[in-house]
Amino acid sequence: MSKEIKVKIDKEKCKSCGFCVLYCAKGILFTGKKNNAKGFFYIEFDDKLNKCNSCAICALMCPEAAIEVFKEDKK
Ligand code: SF4
Ligand code: SF4
Repeated sequence: MSKEIKVKIDKEKCKSCGFCVLYCAKGILFTGKKNNAKGFFYIEFDDKLNKCNSCAICALMCPEAAIEVFKEDKK
């Protein structure tokens, strides 16, 4: 069974520092237009073209540990 890459962002942990956006070589993370309870415009993941290679650099760079990268069986 093939696997689907998931990048899960905990929007309430995000402080909008932009490190993940800066370090993602695929340019598929961006600062969204919605803010969390603390008022930060949290990061969103948009990978319609399946560019994510699950390198997990975004998760490593996040000082708030707000990002999780994992693979899941495709339904
Ligand atoms: S896992 Fe890698 S390619 Fe995917 S969103 Fe994070 S930094 Fe970008
Ligand atoms: S690195 Fe973490 S805290 Fe910074 S913008 Fe990305 S998800 Fe938010």
